[in-house]
Amino acid sequence: MVSADIVSKATDAGLSICFLENELMKNHTTFQIGGPVELMAIPKDRKSLIGLFRLLAEAQTSPVYIMGNGSNLLVSDEGIDGIVVKTEDALKDLNICGTVITAGAGVSLARISTFAKENSLSGFEFAHGIPGTLGGAVYMNAGAYDGEMKSVVTKTEYLKNNTIEALLDDNHQFTYRHSFFSDHPECFILSSQISLHAGQQDEITAKIADFSNRRREKQPLNYPSAGSVFKRPTGYFAGKLIQDVGLSGYMIGGAQVSEKHAGFIINREGATCRDVLDLIKLIKITVYDRFSIQLECEVKVIGRNV
Ligand SMILES: Cc1cc2nc3c(=O)[nH]c(=O)nc-3n(C[C@H](O)[C@H](O)[C@H](O)COP(=O)(O)OP(=O)(O)OC[C@H]3O[C@@H](n4cnc5c(N)ncnc54)[C@H](O)[C@@H]3O)c2cc1C
Repeated sequence: MVSADIVSKATDAGLSICFLENELMKNHTTFQIGGPVELMAIPKDRKSLIGLFRLLAEAQTSPVYIMGNGSNLLVSDEGIDGIVVKTEDALKDLNICGTVITAGAGVSLARISTFAKENSLSGFEFAHGIPGTLGGAVYMNAGAYDGEMKSVVTKTEYLKNNTIEALLDDNHQFTYRHSFFSDHPECFILSSQISLHAGQQDEITAKIADFSNRRREKQPLNYPSAGSVFKRPTGYFAGKLIQDVGLSGYMIGGAQVSEKHAGFIINREGATCRDVLDLIKLIKITVYDRFSIQLECEVKVIGRNV
């Protein structure tokens, strides 16, 4: 009912939004897992996105879930109540001023990294192979190899209670796979400024190629997944611990601990969210029994009954 109301109000207001009812989340997550969401909204531009949030606030619609590329999400087989807003098509701006790039939250990290390279700016090579949007990366303080969002993001514009606000530098509260936004899921990231430094284009190209090769060698990129399932416990690597307890290759239903990188769970064949959750539970118990180390999920688990 709420869905029909929002769709008709958005149409009346002339907002450009693609609405999908009972859309299967598995079509929108890199894990290729997830049941239907009541309503998915994909605004086509920034004005429509801001207008949508105004309507949702007026209608007191909840829950509202924000997603980027769904590359860090594990969604319930039973789906999600409420509305998922996807930044995919809106928030695609990409601008440069000196050594500072300003990008919309919907821009992919690969696109920003390529744009930085084209403009001979160094400092964003680390992010090239992370398959997310800028919004998801800022929320997660995504990082790899020699970098993380913390080291490059200097300003973020976001929407809260229909007001556009901004955060600067340390106010992002970036720590390992965490930011101010992790504690404030009601905020919608609109754009961020990324401060880089001048570099040699051939060196930037070589660094991106090196990181991409290392990913291809070490990660099971030919299977659907959400990347590393667990955060890195201080002083250890989750993948090594999982390998050491003998769970590499272990399968529950269609979900498997990757033989190539035991920190990844892959959707080997028609895995359900329940398969993955059971595997996560088994891994946590086994690693704790053997090493007394509590693994914590990096992947966000959302939806009904999870
Ligand atoms: C093969 C593979 C490799 C990976 N390698 C890495 C890696 O090296 N390093 C790393 O850190 N991660 C890695 N990841 C995980 C993932 O890509 C990152 O966490 C990424 O930053 C998530 O971005 P996303 O756009 O897909 O966000 P989503 O998965 O869609 O969402 C993640 C979180 O961000 C929130 N969010 C998204 N957009 C917004 C917004 N505009 N405003 C507010 N909140 C928002 C969502 O609500 C959610 O809580 C990998 C994943 C895969 C599949």
